[in-house]
Amino acid sequence: MTHLNSKVAVVTGAARGIGAATAARLALDGATVAVIDLDETQTKETADAIVSAGGSAMAVACDVSDEAAVAEAAERIRAEAGSIDVLVNNAGVLRDNLLFKMSLSDWDTVMSVHLRGSFLWAREAQKTMVQNRWGKIVNLSSTSALGNRGQTNYSAAKAGLQGFTKAMALELGPFNVNVNAVAPGFIVTEMTRATAARTGVDFEEMQERGAANIPLRRVGRPEDIANVVSVLCSEDTSYVTGQVIYVAGGPKA
Ligand code: NAP
Repeated sequence: MTHLNSKVAVVTGAARGIGAATAARLALDGATVAVIDLDETQTKETADAIVSAGGSAMAVACDVSDEAAVAEAAERIRAEAGSIDVLVNNAGVLRDNLLFKMSLSDWDTVMSVHLRGSFLWAREAQKTMVQNRWGKIVNLSSTSALGNRGQTNYSAAKAGLQGFTKAMALELGPFNVNVNAVAPGFIVTEMTRATAARTGVDFEEMQERGAANIPLRRVGRPEDIANVVSVLCSEDTSYVTGQVIYVAGGPKA
């Protein structure tokens, strides 16, 4: 597919996991992809892999919660690639704890990366989208938006992203900009591996137990999310906006 030929896509948190798979998929769809992440070396490795596979990519190290860094990164992308046409707000962190043990800093970190980061990137990205009367924004929510023990911070942020998505869809619809959210269930990445390690559960065992409770009887792969993001960035879904698509092997995981 080449539905994103001549388009420029920004994917945050794209050095690994769901973000890296999404960046690779959008490059396959024809986009020039700006791979955004904290670590410069890892970010460059992901961008290099896309280029080696025949795609077009640039590595941009940036903390999504830093206003000046986001403005500078967006300016660089606009200068070098011409515009920002697609934005995937994917960067994420976990700081799980029960409410009575959760520090303010763990609350703030989760809000900063997911909500503040998505806001800062969306505010930058909409500039050329509105100008060109064409844009696609996809925000990564989670089944945790429905509530998850030990994740008051993360659940609030992921539910917040759903509201953010719907409000933006109302504002940007008149400019032909589609804004949707994808809410994954259990996806095998470093994030879920770290949760297994933190809780002292063998990761393979965690996947087996997870799969048993999922209607499709398997846990998800980063590509399962990347594929849906790709469809949401295609003209086939150009009449879909303000929606939350659960990608969880069932109605919810
Ligand atoms: P991951 O493997 O941990 O990847 C997340 C990436 O985001 C990491 O490379 C991380 O960099 C980067 N990042 C963190 N803070 C950042 C910041 N301030 N600025 C720029 N980049 C930053 O996670 P994943 O599983 O692929 O998850 C991707 C998204 O999907 C997240 O929003 C997550 O909440 C959501 N999600 C995941 C699952 C799942 O089961 N995996 C389920 C539902 C939703 P560092 O490593 O340097 O921190």
